[in-house]
Amino acid sequence: MRPFTYTKAATATDAVRAIAAAGRGARFLAGGTTLYDLMKLDVEVPTSIIDINFLAELGGFDTSGSRELIFGALARMSDVAADERLVHDYPALSESLWMAASPQLRNMASLGGNLLQRTRCPYFRGGEPFACNKRKPGSGCSAKEGINRGHALLGGSESCIAVYPGDWAVALSAFDARVDILGPNGERTIALEDLYLEPRATPSLETMLEFNELILRIRVPATPLGVASTFHKIRDRESFSFALASAAVAVQMEADAVREVRIAVGGVATRPWRARSAEQMLVGRQLTAQAARAAGEAALQGAKPSDDNRFRIELGARTVTDALMIARQRAFRP
Ligand code: SF4
Repeated sequence: MRPFTYTKAATATDAVRAIAAAGRGARFLAGGTTLYDLMKLDVEVPTSIIDINFLAELGGFDTSGSRELIFGALARMSDVAADERLVHDYPALSESLWMAASPQLRNMASLGGNLLQRTRCPYFRGGEPFACNKRKPGSGCSAKEGINRGHALLGGSESCIAVYPGDWAVALSAFDARVDILGPNGERTIALEDLYLEPRATPSLETMLEFNELILRIRVPATPLGVASTFHKIRDRESFSFALASAAVAVQMEADAVREVRIAVGGVATRPWRARSAEQMLVGRQLTAQAARAAGEAALQGAKPSDDNRFRIELGARTVTDALMIARQRAFRP
C-alpha cells in the first residue's frame, strides 16, 4: 500500500473542488469495491482519496415517476435490486443487479461506481510482469497471444481486447439511460452509451469522464417496454461470476408482432453493446424462435474471436435468443 491523503467531502460540489485541487492522481471513493481491490494489486495507486460516501444528496433513488426513474449514484446495488417497482415493471434492471457479485459486494457497491468498474483482464490486474496497454500505455497487450477465453469479441482493437465486465450498464443501455455529471464547469447530461469509449489506440481511456467529474445520478425514461424485459447472464458458475455472455432484452408486442424491442449484449464486448441492427430485424415481425435466433446472430455480427474465445460467438447468439424468448413469455403473461 502506498501513502495517500484522505478528504471527506460534504457536498458534490466540495467533492469536485477537492479532486480538482488534488490533481489527476486522485480518486473518488464510493463503495470501494473496485478501488480497494485495485489498490491492493498496485494497479491503482491514488495520491489522494476523496470520500464521497457522506453525500446524502446522491444516496437515494425514486422509481415512482411517470416520466423517468432516478437513481442516485450512491444508491447501493442491493437496495435498488429489491425495489418493488423495478422487480415488477423493469425486471431486466433488477436482475442485472441481483446477478452481479456477491451479496456482501452488492450491499457496499454504489450504482455510479458500478458503471465505472474496471476490466477483469488478468494481465491488467496482474501488474508489472505483464505488458498491458490499458495499465501502461505503449507496453503491449499480453492477452493477444496469451489466455483470452474471457476477452472481447466486439469492439476490440490491436491495442486491447478487454471486456467491459459490468451488467447494470448493459441493462441501462437497453433502456436509453442518461447520466448526470458534475464537473468544475457545472452539471451536464449525457447518454449512458456515450459514457464508454472503445479502446482503439488508447485503451487507458475507458470513459469520456474527466478525472475531476463526478457521476451524480442515472435517469431512465419510463417505458411500457420494461414489463416484458429480462437480463439473461451466462457464466462459468451460477453465482458470483462475470458474464461469458449476457443480454438485456425488452419487448413490447402488438397482437402477435413486435411493436418495439431493445437488445443490448454484455460480457462479449469492450463496452456495453447495443445491438440495433438485431432490433430492427424484429420490429413488425412475429417473435418466433427462428426470428429470435436470427436476431441473436445479428447481435454478434462482426465478432472477431481470439484463439480461445471463438465458442462465445455461438454462446452470445444463444444468450440473446433465449433472452428474447423469456421476454416474449413475459409480454404475454396475464
Ligand atoms: Fe491490457 Fe487490454 Fe491487453 Fe488486457 S486486453 S492485457 S487490459 S491491453
